[in-house]
Amino acid sequence: MKILNNTGEKNYRTKKKYGQNFLENKVILEEIFSYADINKTDTVIEIGPGLGFLTESLAEKAGQVYAFEIDDDLVKILSEKFSKVENLKIIHTDFMDYDLSEIVEKEKNIKVVANIPYYITSPIVGKLIKYRDSIDEIYIMVQKEVAERISAVSPSSDISLLTHAVQFFGNAEYLFTVKKELFNPVPKVDSAFLGIKLYKDREYEKQIDEAEYFKYLKAAFSNKRKSLGNNMKNLGYDKQQTGSALEKTGKKPLARAEEFSVQEFIDFINALKDEK
Ligand code: SAM
Repeated sequence: MKILNNTGEKNYRTKKKYGQNFLENKVILEEIFSYADINKTDTVIEIGPGLGFLTESLAEKAGQVYAFEIDDDLVKILSEKFSKVENLKIIHTDFMDYDLSEIVEKEKNIKVVANIPYYITSPIVGKLIKYRDSIDEIYIMVQKEVAERISAVSPSSDISLLTHAVQFFGNAEYLFTVKKELFNPVPKVDSAFLGIKLYKDREYEKQIDEAEYFKYLKAAFSNKRKSLGNNMKNLGYDKQQTGSALEKTGKKPLARAEEFSVQEFIDFINALKDEK
């Protein structure tokens, strides 16, 4: 694709291995900022700035921006393009290898706004959630299907382990769809912009230990076609125990994991533990 930088127009060959599908559309950019309300008191983390289209607006709006880019060629282009922008730090690294505590310990009002590389969507979300005490809001472009799964409301066949793994820590919202034709090069699937507001009161974490929640969650989704009761056999519970816990949670005996919200699932686990 052709790109314009300080030294004129050049060709840039996108790299598939880094999930490079660039988005340079002013309408989408405006829509992004109608949800991600960024101002000068905010610090923004961007994963994968690419050619810097979103980055430019982020630096204009935010107090400080940290943009993580893995690609040597793009880092060169970005460094040149933004050489005079003082509140933007381009960090040349694999985002997954970077210790974010270096940033979160010194900054406040941290938000993430990014069109991320899709091949590492779950690892990125998982890493950001680890810093939930410091990161307030996450706004990311992801595959449409992933956004549907993460933001699904029960009962829904879109509900998976990923839904609960995110919604246990924050409120996830499907914000808007972005057609694949708007990206360059055009990917195979449509995308969606997703917002996650991380819970500061740790409402669910107060009710159940995180490790325990995930132990039950993994068992619950071990076979999506089976009922929750059946899947609980993996953890040593019999039909009578799960039946009684399901009844206490107000669910039918053959209920499946996809019919549960986070709160219902916590109630179910606690009722089940009483059966032991
Ligand atoms: N934000 C740009 C845009 O909207 O046009 C680019 C988005 S593109 C989907 C993903 C970007 O993430 C690419 O620039 C790619 O080089 C970068 N990237 C891929 N893997 C990465 C990683 N592990 N760490 C940091 N950046 C990565």
